[in-house]
Amino acid sequence: MGRVGLVTDARYRQHDTGYGHPECAERCDAVVQALQASGVFGRLTRIEAREATQAELELCHTASYMELVRHEHALGCEQLSTGDTPLSPETLTAATLAAGGAMRAVDAVIEGEVSSAFCLVRPPGHHAEADRGMGFCLYNNVALAARYSQRTHGLTRVAIIDWDVHHGNGTQAIFWNDPSVHFFSTHQAPWYPGTGAADESGGPAAPGATLNRPFPAGAGRHDILGAFEQDLAAALDAFQPEMLFISAGFDSRRDDPLGGFCAHRSGLRRPHAGGPPPR
Ligand SMILES: [Zn+2]
Repeated sequence: MGRVGLVTDARYRQHDTGYGHPECAERCDAVVQALQASGVFGRLTRIEAREATQAELELCHTASYMELVRHEHALGCEQLSTGDTPLSPETLTAATLAAGGAMRAVDAVIEGEVSSAFCLVRPPGHHAEADRGMGFCLYNNVALAARYSQRTHGLTRVAIIDWDVHHGNGTQAIFWNDPSVHFFSTHQAPWYPGTGAADESGGPAAPGATLNRPFPAGAGRHDILGAFEQDLAAALDAFQPEMLFISAGFDSRRDDPLGGFCAHRSGLRRPHAGGPPPR
């Protein structure tokens, strides 16, 4: 395993979702504190975020949707009209930095600066569709990064793996009919946002490019890892992606207030036999 990159920026903290909101700035602090406590933080290669351009956001979003976002943000709306997504004065900057930060991670991996990268960005993205933000998400960061890897770096086959407890409806919708992007999701069902049934498997031009594995509340490591080891492994063997993107929502952990899965943090860790994490 080579060097691991970390994208983060103090401005992600400034996206203010209001008192008591689960998608809060303290999430970033908790991750950084855990990385520091484990001794991993100092070994990470810091990758500086940048703001995505309008043209880059249009890789996945409609111009009319972005106009709506700018208009409602300028009006001082506290919620986006298309879905339950809080807005605050610094939200637009944070959101364009979140998308652009993920694109910088793509650059760093493809240029060989790091072998993988973790994007500690907010607001999150996987519920955002081409013309509709929802579920705390404004722009679909992972979808934008995947499309950016294709348009800017010429990749032809990429895969997006979503282990958030919620279905990544936005990511699925954006690539529904696109055979160049494989989308795999494990999620709780029935649960928000209601999509992600096992028979949702891609549009007419991309049959099988979407692979959904819904599980009932109470599912844990055995169920979720089973889907990864069997279904995902077989799909990736056949698809041979050039880059993997992970929608790493950690609300699939036990006791998360927004989900009913029972995964323990050891179930989310790369398997290795004890000792310090691999370098
Ligand atoms: Zn979630």
